[in-house]
Amino acid sequence: MVAGRRLNPSQESTTPSPPSGAPGLATLRSLPEVFRYTRHALELVWATSRPLTIALALLTLVAGTLPAAIAWVGALIVDAVVAAIGAHAKSGVADLGPVLRYVALEGVLVAALAATQRGLSTCQSLLRAQLGQRVNEMILEKALTLELRHFEDSEFYDKLTRARREASTRPLSLVMRSFGLVQNAIALVSYGILLAQFSPWAVLVLLAAGLPSFVAEAKFSGDAFRLFRWRSPETRMQMYLETVLAREDHAKEVKLFGLGPLLLGRYRAIFRKVFAEDRALTIRRDTWGFFLGLVSTTAFYAAYAWIAVSAVRGGITLGQMTMYVLLFRQGQAAVSASLAAISGMYEDNLYLSTLYDYLDTPVDAAGGSATSGPSPGDGVRFEHVGFTYPGATEPAVADVSFQLKPGESLALVGENGSGKTTLIKLLARLYVPTSGRITLDGLDLAEWAPVALRRRVGVIFQDFARYQFMVGENIGVGDVRHFEDEARWRVAAELATAAPFVEELPSGYRTQLGKWFREGRELSGGQWQKIALARAFIRDGADILVLDEPTAAMDARAEAQVFEQFRELARGRMVILISHRFSTVRMADQILVIQGGRILERGDHEALMRRDGLYAHLFSLQAQGYR
Ligand code: ADP
Repeated sequence: MVAGRRLNPSQESTTPSPPSGAPGLATLRSLPEVFRYTRHALELVWATSRPLTIALALLTLVAGTLPAAIAWVGALIVDAVVAAIGAHAKSGVADLGPVLRYVALEGVLVAALAATQRGLSTCQSLLRAQLGQRVNEMILEKALTLELRHFEDSEFYDKLTRARREASTRPLSLVMRSFGLVQNAIALVSYGILLAQFSPWAVLVLLAAGLPSFVAEAKFSGDAFRLFRWRSPETRMQMYLETVLAREDHAKEVKLFGLGPLLLGRYRAIFRKVFAEDRALTIRRDTWGFFLGLVSTTAFYAAYAWIAVSAVRGGITLGQMTMYVLLFRQGQAAVSASLAAISGMYEDNLYLSTLYDYLDTPVDAAGGSATSGPSPGDGVRFEHVGFTYPGATEPAVADVSFQLKPGESLALVGENGSGKTTLIKLLARLYVPTSGRITLDGLDLAEWAPVALRRRVGVIFQDFARYQFMVGENIGVGDVRHFEDEARWRVAAELATAAPFVEELPSGYRTQLGKWFREGRELSGGQWQKIALARAFIRDGADILVLDEPTAAMDARAEAQVFEQFRELARGRMVILISHRFSTVRMADQILVIQGGRILERGDHEALMRRDGLYAHLFSLQAQGYR
């Protein structure tokens, strides 16, 4: 967070000055940005592979010095040839020895340069895969430490997407460009030393001619990055549309509702908008690039004339002339390569800032360290609990108090959106209450070690995940300790009445689910719910079981059977149940009727019926439906 702050998109996007035409000197002031993340990138590469990093550094050194040596030997060849021609004209004999030796030497040097360059690209290829993997692991490891609220926050999600999309290739690019810069700098110094013998002014001309191009490059790189940030929401929408249009779980509705052309139209519209901006920037960038490139060409030919005139006047030999012209030409190439490297580094740095922005996302201290509470018989207590979702104006839960002791069951009843699931999320500590407190065994949840707490609570959410793993593993996810334990899968499936249909699948518990993989099977909604229930049953260490609409998609007989099993299992444990089926709800020891996040009525079935309030009303409504 610290390092990326200055590049924060929210600060920039409040005053989105559109990229203006002319490059400015302001760009140069931000030059330190260029090196800001280079250190991070180097550390990453070093940590990924030391031998490769060392090899890269050595090869870079060699590749930097060889070109000047080659130019120098070239001059020696020309001068040796001129001397031999002179000797031949004078005496009729010429010693070819020096000429051939120099030619051979140049050949060896050129071969060495080719070998170094090949070595560099080999190192780069080897590093690319390892570094990409490493950065992706860092991104995923960080994701594991994040809280639910992060994933539900669109700005944060943006960061994650940007980090994932770009940053895994950028660190290598940044390091390669840094090494490239060093290589070109070494080459330039060696050219400079040779060229200074002709004239120090020539060295100055060489450097000055590249400057305007650099300023332009740096500015346009910055513009490109700002564009990239501003349009992040659009790119995200485009990615989402791709998912909707091309994934099996959406295909059904897309076809039936004829959504395809509509969504594709949106997809195209986003591209057109984005492309128009890109095109404008590309054209501006290339136009400036062309005109500023002319400055370099002019400088080169002026220097060429100057060197040629010196040779004609006899100030330098023919060999020296060839060398200086070559040095000037290569020097110019090295200057523009360095400048391109710097502007590329500027871009990489900006992109890398998104990675570190993400990696540095502060995560709240991870709760307490207690693994047991002072009074185990106390169970779960909500004390005036209130909660408002981040960014929401109305509380989703307000002033909720109740107690649930071991061996008891509690049902939550209420309309959609009344706050039932939120209560469960608070209990599972996916969120922290904004007011009041929740205790387990007499100890505030905040003081419990997250691992100990999670082990005690088993929640099957309404929108439970349908993993594209084996059937058995889909049960095993309920308890990581038994993830691959087939014997336990069977027991849990038995209890959840899932065993009969699982055993009929082609490979039983080892049948692959989901369409992403070969021979993946699909289950019906009710079958999936039984699998989800089995997750609750396999989690035998948990003594607080929470089921959010666990049987909504099951047939009536399956539901009755499941609850029979569940009552068995629930002995001595705490069970919280959310259901719209009153046949299920009425079995609970305690029923809370929730409305607008508050408890409206409480009691057992008989008491609530006698009260003749909302519960009694809803119950008779549903009973009528069955008559
Ligand atoms: P229920 O489970 O009773 O159907 P929820 O607890 O899911 O209701 O939702 C209660 C209220 O909180 C609703 O008004 C809903 O819009 C809001 N809400 C639920 N989840 C979120 C969330 N992740 N972010 C913001 N608001 C939410």
